[in-house]
Amino acid sequence: MKTMKAAILTKQNTMEIQEIPIPECGDDEVLVKVMAVGVCGSDVHFFSEGHIGDDYVQYPHILGHEGAGIVEAVGKNVTKFQPGDHVAVEPGIACGFCPACKAGKYNLCEKMQFMSGPPVWGCLRQYLTIREDFCFQIPMDMSFERGSLVEPLSVAIHAVRQARVKPNDRVLIVGAGPIGLSCIAAVKDCGAGEVMICDTIPQRLEMARQFGARVFDVSKVPIQEQLADEIAADQIDVGMETAGIVSGFGTLIDCVKRGGSIVLVGCPSADTAPIPIGKLVTKELMVNGLFRYRNTYPYGIHLAASDVAPFDLMFTQSFPLADAQKAHEMARDDKANCMKIIIHPNE
Ligand SMILES: [Zn+2]
Ligand SMILES: [Zn+2]
Repeated sequence: MKTMKAAILTKQNTMEIQEIPIPECGDDEVLVKVMAVGVCGSDVHFFSEGHIGDDYVQYPHILGHEGAGIVEAVGKNVTKFQPGDHVAVEPGIACGFCPACKAGKYNLCEKMQFMSGPPVWGCLRQYLTIREDFCFQIPMDMSFERGSLVEPLSVAIHAVRQARVKPNDRVLIVGAGPIGLSCIAAVKDCGAGEVMICDTIPQRLEMARQFGARVFDVSKVPIQEQLADEIAADQIDVGMETAGIVSGFGTLIDCVKRGGSIVLVGCPSADTAPIPIGKLVTKELMVNGLFRYRNTYPYGIHLAASDVAPFDLMFTQSFPLADAQKAHEMARDDKANCMKIIIHPNE
Protein backbone atom coordinates (compact mmCIF):
# COMPACT_ATOMS: atom_id res chain seq x y z
CA MET A 1 0.00 0.00 0.00
CA LYS A 2 1.29 3.45 -0.93
CA THR A 3 1.46 6.01 1.86
CA MET A 4 1.63 9.77 2.17
CA LYS A 5 2.38 12.34 4.82
CA ALA A 6 -0.51 14.05 6.63
CA ALA A 7 -0.68 16.65 9.38
CA ILE A 8 -2.77 14.86 11.98
CA LEU A 9 -4.44 16.81 14.76
CA THR A 10 -3.98 14.42 17.68
CA LYS A 11 -5.29 16.66 20.46
CA GLN A 12 -5.92 20.33 21.11
CA ASN A 13 -3.08 22.52 19.80
CA THR A 14 -1.09 19.48 18.67
CA MET A 15 -0.40 18.35 15.11
CA GLU A 16 1.88 15.47 14.16
CA ILE A 17 3.14 14.41 10.78
CA GLN A 18 2.15 10.79 10.20
CA GLU A 19 2.25 8.35 7.30
CA ILE A 20 -1.24 7.26 6.23
CA PRO A 21 -2.48 5.36 3.16
CA ILE A 22 -3.07 7.32 -0.05
CA PRO A 23 -6.85 7.12 -0.62
CA GLU A 24 -8.21 5.01 -3.48
CA CYS A 25 -9.79 7.03 -6.26
CA GLY A 26 -13.51 6.17 -6.59
CA ASP A 27 -15.15 5.81 -10.02
CA ASP A 28 -16.50 9.40 -9.93
CA GLU A 29 -13.51 10.86 -8.13
CA VAL A 30 -10.28 12.63 -8.88
CA LEU A 31 -7.06 12.00 -6.91
CA VAL A 32 -5.39 15.35 -6.31
CA LYS A 33 -1.78 15.95 -5.31
CA VAL A 34 -2.25 18.84 -2.88
CA MET A 35 0.10 21.75 -3.61
CA ALA A 36 -1.26 24.61 -1.49
CA VAL A 37 -3.63 24.86 1.46
CA GLY A 38 -4.71 28.14 3.01
CA VAL A 39 -5.09 28.26 6.80
CA CYS A 40 -8.56 29.57 7.64
CA GLY A 41 -9.94 31.08 10.84
CA SER A 42 -12.17 28.04 11.29
CA ASP A 43 -9.13 25.73 11.14
CA VAL A 44 -7.53 27.78 13.90
CA HIS A 45 -10.67 27.45 16.08
CA PHE A 46 -10.67 23.67 15.63
CA PHE A 47 -6.92 23.58 16.29
CA SER A 48 -6.88 25.68 19.45
CA GLU A 49 -10.33 25.12 20.95
CA GLY A 50 -11.19 21.67 19.63
CA HIS A 51 -14.66 22.75 18.48
CA ILE A 52 -16.73 25.42 16.77
CA GLY A 53 -20.06 25.65 18.55
CA ASP A 54 -21.42 22.11 18.86
CA ASP A 55 -19.09 20.81 16.19
CA TYR A 56 -16.40 18.90 18.14
CA VAL A 57 -13.21 17.50 16.63
CA GLN A 58 -13.01 13.72 16.67
CA TYR A 59 -9.32 12.88 17.04
CA PRO A 60 -7.33 11.98 15.04
CA HIS A 61 -8.43 14.68 12.61
CA ILE A 62 -7.06 16.50 9.54
CA LEU A 63 -7.74 20.22 9.07
CA GLY A 64 -7.64 22.38 5.92
CA HIS A 65 -10.34 23.15 3.37
CA GLU A 66 -8.74 25.73 1.08
CA GLY A 67 -6.91 23.42 -1.29
CA ALA A 68 -5.47 23.44 -4.80
CA GLY A 69 -3.25 20.97 -6.58
CA ILE A 70 -2.54 18.72 -9.54
CA VAL A 71 -4.70 15.86 -10.78
CA GLU A 72 -2.74 12.65 -10.20
CA ALA A 73 -5.31 10.08 -11.31
CA VAL A 74 -8.98 9.90 -12.28
CA GLY A 75 -11.76 7.36 -11.68
CA LYS A 76 -13.21 5.41 -14.60
CA ASN A 77 -16.35 7.60 -14.94
CA VAL A 78 -14.45 10.89 -14.83
CA THR A 79 -14.60 12.87 -18.09
CA LYS A 80 -13.66 16.45 -17.20
CA PHE A 81 -10.09 15.88 -16.00
CA GLN A 82 -6.88 14.16 -16.85
CA PRO A 83 -3.64 13.71 -14.93
CA GLY A 84 -1.60 16.90 -14.90
CA ASP A 85 -4.56 19.30 -14.78
CA HIS A 86 -4.28 22.04 -12.17
CA VAL A 87 -7.37 22.31 -9.99
CA ALA A 88 -9.03 24.10 -7.08
CA VAL A 89 -10.99 21.85 -4.75
CA GLU A 90 -14.44 22.89 -3.53
CA PRO A 91 -14.36 21.28 -0.10
CA GLY A 92 -18.05 20.64 0.67
CA ILE A 93 -19.66 17.60 -0.97
CA ALA A 94 -23.45 17.92 -1.02
CA CYS A 95 -25.81 14.93 -1.33
CA GLY A 96 -27.83 16.28 -4.24
CA PHE A 97 -31.06 14.70 -2.94
CA CYS A 98 -32.24 16.54 0.20
CA PRO A 99 -34.76 19.45 0.10
CA ALA A 100 -32.00 22.09 0.35
CA CYS A 101 -30.05 20.50 -2.51
CA LYS A 102 -33.27 20.19 -4.55
CA ALA A 103 -33.95 23.88 -3.90
CA GLY A 104 -30.55 24.70 -5.38
CA LYS A 105 -29.10 25.73 -2.03
CA TYR A 106 -26.65 22.88 -1.72
CA ASN A 107 -24.50 24.73 0.82
CA LEU A 108 -27.38 24.09 3.25
CA CYS A 109 -27.41 20.34 2.47
CA GLU A 110 -28.40 18.35 5.53
CA LYS A 111 -25.85 15.66 4.67
CA MET A 112 -23.02 18.03 3.73
CA GLN A 113 -19.57 16.42 3.93
CA PHE A 114 -17.30 19.41 4.44
CA MET A 115 -13.56 18.83 4.52
CA SER A 116 -11.99 19.69 7.87
CA GLY A 117 -15.45 19.84 9.48
CA PRO A 118 -15.42 16.90 11.91
CA PRO A 119 -15.40 14.02 11.16
CA VAL A 120 -14.51 14.68 7.49
CA TRP A 121 -10.78 14.87 6.91
CA GLY A 122 -9.37 18.00 5.29
CA CYS A 123 -6.60 18.94 2.87
CA LEU A 124 -3.48 18.95 5.05
CA ARG A 125 -2.06 15.85 3.42
CA GLN A 126 -0.18 15.08 0.26
CA TYR A 127 -3.13 13.55 -1.62
CA LEU A 128 -6.91 13.69 -1.41
CA THR A 129 -9.82 12.36 -3.42
CA ILE A 130 -12.71 14.57 -4.45
CA ARG A 131 -15.86 13.98 -6.50
CA GLU A 132 -15.35 15.23 -10.04
CA ASP A 133 -18.13 17.83 -9.84
CA PHE A 134 -16.46 19.53 -6.86
CA CYS A 135 -13.15 19.88 -8.66
CA PHE A 136 -12.47 22.91 -10.90
CA GLN A 137 -9.72 23.47 -13.41
CA ILE A 138 -7.53 26.52 -12.86
CA PRO A 139 -5.28 28.08 -15.52
CA MET A 140 -1.84 26.48 -15.76
CA ASP A 141 -0.25 29.88 -15.14
CA MET A 142 -2.23 30.53 -11.95
CA SER A 143 -0.32 29.90 -8.73
CA PHE A 144 -1.62 27.19 -6.41
CA GLU A 145 -1.80 29.85 -3.69
CA ARG A 146 -4.33 31.74 -5.77
CA GLY A 147 -6.08 28.45 -6.48
CA SER A 148 -6.52 27.91 -2.75
CA LEU A 149 -7.78 31.50 -2.40
CA VAL A 150 -10.83 30.59 -4.49
CA GLU A 151 -12.36 29.20 -1.27
CA PRO A 152 -12.40 32.45 0.74
CA LEU A 153 -13.21 34.36 -2.47
CA SER A 154 -16.24 32.07 -2.79
CA VAL A 155 -17.49 33.26 0.60
CA ALA A 156 -17.12 36.85 -0.63
CA ILE A 157 -18.92 36.14 -3.91
CA HIS A 158 -21.78 34.55 -1.99
CA ALA A 159 -21.85 37.60 0.30
CA VAL A 160 -22.18 39.92 -2.70
CA ARG A 161 -25.05 37.80 -3.99
CA GLN A 162 -26.79 37.53 -0.60
CA ALA A 163 -26.53 41.30 -0.12
CA ARG A 164 -27.70 41.93 -3.71
CA VAL A 165 -24.88 44.43 -4.32
CA LYS A 166 -25.64 46.49 -7.42
CA PRO A 167 -23.39 48.56 -9.69
CA ASN A 168 -22.40 51.85 -8.09
CA ASP A 169 -23.49 50.76 -4.59
CA ARG A 170 -21.42 52.06 -1.70
CA VAL A 171 -20.46 49.21 0.57
CA LEU A 172 -19.20 49.23 4.17
CA ILE A 173 -17.31 46.14 5.33
CA VAL A 174 -16.63 45.43 9.01
CA GLY A 175 -13.36 43.51 9.46
CA ALA A 176 -10.24 43.56 7.24
CA GLY A 177 -9.19 39.92 7.63
CA PRO A 178 -8.94 37.49 4.69
CA ILE A 179 -12.72 37.44 4.20
CA GLY A 180 -12.98 41.23 4.47
CA LEU A 181 -10.26 41.64 1.83
CA SER A 182 -11.91 39.00 -0.36
CA CYS A 183 -15.15 40.97 -0.05
CA ILE A 184 -13.39 44.14 -1.24
CA ALA A 185 -12.34 42.27 -4.39
CA ALA A 186 -15.74 40.69 -5.03
CA VAL A 187 -17.56 43.97 -4.41
CA LYS A 188 -15.23 45.89 -6.74
CA ASP A 189 -15.56 43.23 -9.43
CA CYS A 190 -19.34 43.58 -9.53
CA GLY A 191 -19.05 47.28 -10.30
CA ALA A 192 -19.85 48.70 -6.91
CA GLY A 193 -18.97 52.29 -6.11
CA GLU A 194 -16.88 53.17 -3.10
CA VAL A 195 -15.81 50.32 -0.82
CA MET A 196 -15.20 51.24 2.82
CA ILE A 197 -13.76 48.97 5.47
CA CYS A 198 -13.05 49.25 9.18
CA ASP A 199 -10.76 47.35 11.53
CA THR A 200 -8.49 48.01 14.50
CA ILE A 201 -5.27 46.40 13.20
CA PRO A 202 -3.09 48.89 11.24
CA GLN A 203 -1.37 46.22 9.11
CA ARG A 204 -4.73 44.87 7.97
CA LEU A 205 -6.03 48.35 7.19
CA GLU A 206 -2.94 49.08 5.12
CA MET A 207 -3.50 45.94 3.07
CA ALA A 208 -7.18 46.85 2.63
CA ARG A 209 -6.07 50.25 1.36
CA GLN A 210 -3.87 48.54 -1.23
CA PHE A 211 -6.90 46.48 -2.22
CA GLY A 212 -8.62 49.75 -3.10
CA ALA A 213 -10.84 50.38 -0.10
CA ARG A 214 -11.25 53.58 1.90
CA VAL A 215 -10.12 52.47 5.35
CA PHE A 216 -11.17 53.44 8.86
CA ASP A 217 -9.32 52.67 12.07
CA VAL A 218 -12.04 52.16 14.66
CA SER A 219 -9.75 51.46 17.63
CA LYS A 220 -10.54 54.87 19.14
CA VAL A 221 -13.41 56.51 17.26
CA PRO A 222 -16.45 54.42 16.24
CA ILE A 223 -17.32 54.22 12.55
CA GLN A 224 -20.69 55.86 13.22
CA GLU A 225 -18.82 59.06 14.16
CA GLN A 226 -16.29 58.86 11.34
CA LEU A 227 -19.00 58.41 8.73
CA ALA A 228 -21.61 60.65 10.37
CA ASP A 229 -22.18 62.77 7.25
CA GLU A 230 -22.59 59.81 4.89
CA ILE A 231 -24.89 58.07 7.34
CA ALA A 232 -27.04 61.17 7.76
CA ALA A 233 -27.28 61.46 3.97
CA ASP A 234 -28.31 57.79 3.55
CA GLN A 235 -25.28 57.08 1.37
CA ILE A 236 -24.25 53.60 2.48
CA ASP A 237 -26.20 51.04 0.47
CA VAL A 238 -24.82 47.75 1.77
CA GLY A 239 -23.15 46.53 4.97
CA MET A 240 -21.06 43.35 5.31
CA GLU A 241 -20.05 41.98 8.70
CA THR A 242 -16.98 39.76 8.28
CA ALA A 243 -15.35 40.02 11.71
CA GLY A 244 -17.87 37.89 13.60
CA ILE A 245 -17.96 40.40 16.43
CA VAL A 246 -21.38 40.72 18.02
CA SER A 247 -21.37 44.52 17.90
CA GLY A 248 -20.73 44.49 14.13
CA PHE A 249 -24.38 43.86 13.25
CA GLY A 250 -25.60 46.77 15.39
CA THR A 251 -22.93 49.00 13.86
CA LEU A 252 -24.19 48.20 10.38
CA ILE A 253 -27.83 48.79 11.38
CA ASP A 254 -26.70 52.28 12.40
CA CYS A 255 -24.73 52.91 9.21
CA VAL A 256 -26.68 51.39 6.32
CA LYS A 257 -29.25 53.57 4.55
CA ARG A 258 -33.00 53.19 4.78
CA GLY A 259 -34.01 50.30 2.54
CA GLY A 260 -30.43 49.05 2.34
CA SER A 261 -29.13 45.55 2.98
CA ILE A 262 -26.83 43.84 5.43
CA VAL A 263 -25.16 40.45 5.12
CA LEU A 264 -23.70 38.68 8.14
CA VAL A 265 -20.66 36.81 6.88
CA GLY A 266 -18.48 36.27 9.94
CA CYS A 267 -19.09 33.36 12.26
CA PRO A 268 -20.57 35.20 15.28
CA SER A 269 -18.57 35.14 18.50
CA ALA A 270 -21.77 34.72 20.56
CA ASP A 271 -25.15 33.12 19.90
CA THR A 272 -27.19 36.19 20.83
CA ALA A 273 -26.53 39.91 20.69
CA PRO A 274 -28.39 43.09 21.61
CA ILE A 275 -29.37 44.90 18.40
CA PRO A 276 -31.17 48.20 17.73
CA ILE A 277 -34.28 46.38 16.52
CA GLY A 278 -36.37 49.55 16.21
CA LYS A 279 -33.96 50.98 13.67
CA LEU A 280 -33.79 47.67 11.83
CA VAL A 281 -37.57 47.70 11.42
CA THR A 282 -38.16 51.36 10.59
CA LYS A 283 -35.25 51.55 8.15
CA GLU A 284 -36.66 48.47 6.37
CA LEU A 285 -33.25 46.87 6.27
CA MET A 286 -32.88 43.60 4.45
CA VAL A 287 -30.74 41.24 6.51
CA ASN A 288 -29.24 38.00 5.23
CA GLY A 289 -27.25 35.30 6.91
CA LEU A 290 -24.65 33.40 4.96
CA PHE A 291 -23.30 29.88 5.21
CA ARG A 292 -20.23 29.21 3.10
CA TYR A 293 -21.20 29.45 -0.62
CA ARG A 294 -22.79 27.68 -3.55
CA ASN A 295 -22.05 27.73 -7.29
CA THR A 296 -19.17 30.14 -6.85
CA TYR A 297 -16.06 28.27 -7.96
CA PRO A 298 -15.98 29.10 -11.69
CA TYR A 299 -16.45 32.81 -10.95
CA GLY A 300 -14.04 32.57 -8.00
CA ILE A 301 -11.34 31.22 -10.32
CA HIS A 302 -11.98 34.09 -12.74
CA LEU A 303 -11.70 36.53 -9.83
CA ALA A 304 -8.52 34.94 -8.44
CA ALA A 305 -6.93 35.13 -11.90
CA SER A 306 -7.83 38.80 -12.33
CA ASP A 307 -6.00 41.91 -11.22
CA VAL A 308 -9.03 43.41 -9.49
CA ALA A 309 -6.94 43.36 -6.30
CA PRO A 310 -3.27 42.61 -5.46
CA PHE A 311 -4.15 39.16 -4.11
CA ASP A 312 -0.54 38.00 -3.70
CA LEU A 313 -0.10 40.51 -0.87
CA MET A 314 -2.39 38.31 1.20
CA PHE A 315 0.08 35.39 1.25
CA THR A 316 2.07 36.63 4.20
CA GLN A 317 3.74 33.34 5.21
CA SER A 318 4.20 29.87 3.77
CA PHE A 319 5.32 26.61 5.34
CA PRO A 320 5.98 23.01 4.32
CA LEU A 321 3.63 20.38 5.77
CA ALA A 322 6.23 19.52 8.43
CA ASP A 323 5.62 22.97 9.95
CA ALA A 324 1.80 22.74 9.99
CA GLN A 325 1.87 22.98 13.79
CA LYS A 326 3.91 26.18 13.66
CA ALA A 327 1.66 27.62 10.93
CA HIS A 328 -1.45 27.14 13.06
CA GLU A 329 0.23 28.53 16.17
CA MET A 330 1.24 31.60 14.21
CA ALA A 331 -2.27 32.07 12.79
CA ARG A 332 -3.60 31.72 16.36
CA ASP A 333 -1.14 34.12 18.01
CA ASP A 334 -0.19 36.80 15.49
CA LYS A 335 -3.24 38.17 13.66
CA ALA A 336 -1.50 41.49 13.04
CA ASN A 337 1.20 39.96 10.85
CA CYS A 338 -0.60 36.95 9.36
CA MET A 339 -3.19 37.47 6.66
CA LYS A 340 -3.28 34.17 4.78
CA ILE A 341 -0.78 31.49 5.72
CA ILE A 342 -0.22 28.86 3.04
CA ILE A 343 0.95 25.30 3.68
CA HIS A 344 2.63 23.33 0.87
CA PRO A 345 2.06 19.60 1.50
CA ASN A 346 4.32 18.46 -1.33
CA GLU A 347 7.38 20.63 -0.78
ZN1 LIG B 1 -12.01 29.01 4.65
ZN1 LIG C 1 -28.31 17.56 0.23
